[in-house]
Amino acid sequence: AFVIEPKIDGLAMALTYENGLLVRGATRGNGVEGENVTANVRTVNSIPLRIPTRSDGPPAPARIEVRGEVYMPIADFNRFNQQQLDKGEKIYANPRNFAAGSLRQLDSRITAQRPLAFFAYAIGYVEGAEIGSQQQALDYLKALGFPVNPDILHTTSFAAAIDFIHKWMERRNDLPYDADGAVVKIDSFALQRELGVVGNAPRWAIAYKFPAREATTKVLAIKGNVGRTGQITPYAELEPVNIGGVIVRNASLHNYDDLAKKDIREGDTVIIKRAGDVIPQVVKPILDLRPADSQPAQPPAVCPVCGQPTTRLGDDVALFCINAACPAQLVRQVEYFVSRGAMDIEGFGIKIGEQLVAEGFIKDIADIYFLQRDDLLKLEGFAEKKVDNLLGAIEASKQQPFDRFLTALGIRYVGNVVAGLVVSHFPAIDQLSRATQEELQAIEGVGPRIAESLVAWFSGPANQSLIDKFRRAGVTLQARRTGPEQPQTLAGLTFVITGTLPTWSREQAQAFIEQHGGKVTGSVSKKTNYLVLGENPGSKLTKAQSLGIPTLGEQELQNLAQA
Ligand code: ZN
Repeated sequence: AFVIEPKIDGLAMALTYENGLLVRGATRGNGVEGENVTANVRTVNSIPLRIPTRSDGPPAPARIEVRGEVYMPIADFNRFNQQQLDKGEKIYANPRNFAAGSLRQLDSRITAQRPLAFFAYAIGYVEGAEIGSQQQALDYLKALGFPVNPDILHTTSFAAAIDFIHKWMERRNDLPYDADGAVVKIDSFALQRELGVVGNAPRWAIAYKFPAREATTKVLAIKGNVGRTGQITPYAELEPVNIGGVIVRNASLHNYDDLAKKDIREGDTVIIKRAGDVIPQVVKPILDLRPADSQPAQPPAVCPVCGQPTTRLGDDVALFCINAACPAQLVRQVEYFVSRGAMDIEGFGIKIGEQLVAEGFIKDIADIYFLQRDDLLKLEGFAEKKVDNLLGAIEASKQQPFDRFLTALGIRYVGNVVAGLVVSHFPAIDQLSRATQEELQAIEGVGPRIAESLVAWFSGPANQSLIDKFRRAGVTLQARRTGPEQPQTLAGLTFVITGTLPTWSREQAQAFIEQHGGKVTGSVSKKTNYLVLGENPGSKLTKAQSLGIPTLGEQELQNLAQA
């Protein structure tokens, strides 16, 4: 059986109720860590402060986390923007960002004035009720008094599911909210668990994206944007146009081959389309409306930021600035490194990143940790307090968990979910640096593409020296020990590990020794106390025997730590 739900373009929210009372509202954030927005959530009318809302409802469970979407109805959004215009104040581009901004207000009184609404669609966990399927979850949420979208279908027929989506799509312009598609979920939770998750993508749910909405507008200019990897992507600056309640000012032109193929020119009147959260795209020019003097757009011969020659890599259609010192790439890297989902350095905005790169104080991302107070004070707009706050935030970020740091490096395909998986298997940077593609792929949720990208990144000498620089700065480069502190029974002892151990990997054996206070070195010397010996040992055994160093098996090592 399937459950088909509309995909509302809003902000994912987790609401915790204890004994029927709303105690916490949090954004989903990166899926692990979100923002506490309880005070603001309380001002949303359709979110109950107490459950059940009716006396004939089921009793409130001891604890429940209700997940759903906070959104802004389109009519309310447009009305709000009209009022802003009348007052000569700032208008907002789309309902989703406006809803998100409203929830993040520091002053709940402002949030209360914003017309936000809520639909519940899932249960994070519940204590005191047995829920076995998505449909049961929705029925239960409704009975407790949560608003549940009425446009949800439960069916055992896949054809009926597709049919429902099509009908639903036809009338999406009549819906009071912005929906960019539908989600088809497997109903049974037991089946969902069996199917599992890859990275952050569940195997038991799939999103069906609605076709894009289209509009016509004029290309004011064609410009190039330099990304974190140096890739230059063309985009069109447009005469602002409203598509499905959203004001669009820029649209992507994909790449320069595509741009040439479609022959889009400055001054053209073009059709643009927008599909949900995806950046709007230019579809094609309307040739009848082309000005007589227009010229075909050319890929830039030089980087629009650093002025160095651009190049194409291999057969790739993409155009790159390969100047490693190109400030645009570095600014993007810095921006990503300090961002909320990465090292989360408060007060380090993109403007500061641009300024520090332009002044030459940041030449690679590790330079963030070597900024000098005196240098910063010379910069425009940097008063003492601002400098001290910034340096304080940078210092504090050294304690961010290792998986955050790994995310912040911006390695291709390695976002926060993958970083968490990788770190749980390779809890220190040196282990991770040495990990082979096979070892990484053995982690559930890590595929060949991710493994290859990690190995390639760590094999670069420039990246190794970058890591050394972070190490010198004192950034946390290993996962904090979880679980109880181990007795330091191996303190003062030095071990060497050789051969294949029966159950542990070499990394696990090393972690075990270090957790008990011991030290592990790579080669046997007079200072070695024990050789930890597995199958097929190398020359280390011969060396150890010649020095009379005792050997231990995996079990004996554990016994030694017990003593
Ligand atoms: Zn450049």
